[in-house]
Amino acid sequence: MSRSLAILNEIFGYPTFRGQQAEIVEHVADGGDSLVLMPTGGGKSLCYQIPSLVRREEGFGAGIVVSPLIALMQDQVAALTEVGVRAAYLNSTLTGAEAAVTERALHNGEIDLLYVAPERLMTPRFLDLLDSSLVGLFAIDEAHCVSQWGHDFRPEYIQLSVLHERFPDVPRIALTATADAITRDEIVHRLALDDARIFVSSFDRPNIRYRIVEKDNARAQLLDFIRAEHTNADSTTDAGVVYCLSRRKVEETADWLKTQGVCALPYHAGMEFETRQKHQEMFQREEGIVMCATIAFGMGIDKPDVRFVAHLDLPKSVEGYYQETGRAGRDGMPANAWMAYGLGDVVQQRKMIDESDADDAHKRVQTGKLDALLGLCEVASCRRVRLLAYFGERSAPCGNCDTCLEPPASWDATREAQMALSCVYRAHKASGFNFGTGHLIDILRGARSEKIIQRAHEKLSTFGLGAALSEPEWRAIFRQLVAFGFLAVDHEFGALVLTAASKPVLKGEQQVTLRKYVKPVRSRQSSSRTGERADPTAGMSPREKMRWDRLRTWRAETAKSDGVPAYVIFHDATLAEIARSDPDTIDDLRQIPGIGARKLERFGDELLDVIGAG
Ligand code: ADP
Ligand code: ZN
Repeated sequence: MSRSLAILNEIFGYPTFRGQQAEIVEHVADGGDSLVLMPTGGGKSLCYQIPSLVRREEGFGAGIVVSPLIALMQDQVAALTEVGVRAAYLNSTLTGAEAAVTERALHNGEIDLLYVAPERLMTPRFLDLLDSSLVGLFAIDEAHCVSQWGHDFRPEYIQLSVLHERFPDVPRIALTATADAITRDEIVHRLALDDARIFVSSFDRPNIRYRIVEKDNARAQLLDFIRAEHTNADSTTDAGVVYCLSRRKVEETADWLKTQGVCALPYHAGMEFETRQKHQEMFQREEGIVMCATIAFGMGIDKPDVRFVAHLDLPKSVEGYYQETGRAGRDGMPANAWMAYGLGDVVQQRKMIDESDADDAHKRVQTGKLDALLGLCEVASCRRVRLLAYFGERSAPCGNCDTCLEPPASWDATREAQMALSCVYRAHKASGFNFGTGHLIDILRGARSEKIIQRAHEKLSTFGLGAALSEPEWRAIFRQLVAFGFLAVDHEFGALVLTAASKPVLKGEQQVTLRKYVKPVRSRQSSSRTGERADPTAGMSPREKMRWDRLRTWRAETAKSDGVPAYVIFHDATLAEIARSDPDTIDDLRQIPGIGARKLERFGDELLDVIGAG
């Protein structure tokens, strides 16, 4: 057995490498440079942690890990310490004296892995320290931070090319979860990784179930979703994130969820720094918190057991959707990505692009990105296939998204599309104004609203023409017509206007196929339509469930006394496996993934006690 596999088994307690890990680890341990592109939750950390330990045994120095995320560093170091690896970090949270202790330890060869903030690494003082210490490898985490075009740009990252010049013999491994080719090329170029081997993993996140539902009453739908799929028997909820577009909506949603008994917190860039930090830390460390947030809540989230990400508003692009939903289920256990989406979202996003100060070229790019996302929302075939195709990856229908689980019906809506478009045309022709969907639907359905009477719109030839369809059915039609570009949104009032694409439809030269409207079903506790909860205890017997509950209580207490997040003690997957397999002996425990030698020694007897073994 290779040393790296032995370390994986003994120290980390995992039986096998995942995906490309084995190859990457071997390449890096042998001293090769590499660039690793792997999705969130793919297991990037082990790709540098294990080679560092292997090289350490071979007499090389410590692995130096550059990371921009302070909270993440602390948790990684805590997790490594728990498994018996000599790890430490250097960042602005340490006092001078504390930093000096760590620096001395590095110098004396008493550290295996050192996490450093980039600005600290690049100081002349620290580079000198590295000169006089032994360095085994450099790992550059979140390597996309060198990209000036990306949203996580860090100027200090540009300077990291110095590492190569100053320590030409030390292998470097750069890692990122950002998939696109432009960013990849920029990393290679800026970090002088021309000779590095590039490892590209699939960006699929198979444990995430994607669902996009028609928005009806978004709050009520969200609550139904949380209650049905993410609420435990003791009425605590799973950890989750609810993304909203505006700060106000974040606050309102959090307040409202609280009144409904959900432990929710707000997070957005308009909040005081301290409060924001506090909320992030509570989310990270405690269990069962639902964070209502704008996208300001982002890269720093390294919580492996986020069980759902919900969107109450549309993200700006497929990239955004992928990144935001990707924060769910890092631990590989089932997780949900759920979004409520409606006509209002399309109108709002189109308006925002129109009203922005960006130049035309930029607006065209944004519009293109939004269209791709709308395509994903309206797709009638597998969402995952569509999502991965956007990143250039081919795949087969997944069986774990809403369109696979309950394929939507398509229908020939050509006639109805013509009615809708001609209604837009005639209303405008009669009064010189454009109108919003509400009014247009009233005309089509023959409602005698005040506005209709006032404008004499009951005289239009389209009045009452569409009475056979309900209001929500018409909304779904208008939404799709806008999403597919047959109608545009007038930026001043959010009214609908015809486009060049409307003409062939009106003239009967083009067919229109739409997704059939389905009335949103209110899911009820434990009878969710799509089957099992995204829950680690799914399918457990009452006895197993009892062990699981005891183990969780024990874990919460242990985490508290160690001052670390619960998942640093054991991940849910490990606890679930203990609960299921009901081990009798220390040897039984050793077989369970996630229990390495150190944790076995420290917690083994306690665990057996907790589950009442023997
Ligand atoms: P990333 O940094 O790519 O988002 P992490 O390194 O945090 O992912 O790993 C994600 C999760 O997968 C962690 O909980 C980690 O313990 C687990 N993991 C990684 N590699 C393996 C493996 N070979 N076997 C079992 N679990 C693994
Ligand atoms: Zn699918």
